[in-house]
Amino acid sequence: MKVIYPGSFDPVTFGHLDVIKRAAKIHEEVIVAVLINKDKKSMFSIEERVDMLKELVRDYDNVTVDSFAGLTVDYAKKVNSNVILRGIRAVADYEHEKQIAIANNTANNNIETLFMISSEKYSYLSSSIVKEFLNFGGDITSFVPALVAKKIYDKTEGGK
Ligand code: ADP
Repeated sequence: MKVIYPGSFDPVTFGHLDVIKRAAKIHEEVIVAVLINKDKKSMFSIEERVDMLKELVRDYDNVTVDSFAGLTVDYAKKVNSNVILRGIRAVADYEHEKQIAIANNTANNNIETLFMISSEKYSYLSSSIVKEFLNFGGDITSFVPALVAKKIYDKTEGGK
């Protein structure tokens, strides 16, 4: 199966990578798709996010990285996939993800959403937590890969 894993990835965390790696084991092809959302203030540009993700999935032959604007269902059709993959960390994710999945399936009933339960050790981790820690000068090296941490620190001068 060819699945799309859409998200903001701002920044990509160990939690995202865990989902990508586990998905790559069970699906023929995984397309990590960075959503271009001009209304959302971001830490990294789309190009930066795509470049970092590409570097991080370099060893996985069946994982590619792309970006898209607009509806995920339209992007799915464009790349000839009918499966969206999303991660679920806790009950808090469920209600929101359920709404999106049903809305997407209503928009295009060929599109199905599959959910992967987060690995326990990353079930607390989100891009927002990384940003919050940074705001208060916290250490983010347990949350994101070294190359991402370096880029963040370069940008924020250590979060200060
Ligand atoms: P969005 O802005 O669309 O929520 P994110 O970049 O925050 O995108 O996340 C993309 C996907 O990855 C979502 O399905 C989200 O639930 C999932 N995800 C994020 N962090 C984790 C994690 N620690 N473990 C498992 N899934 C995660």
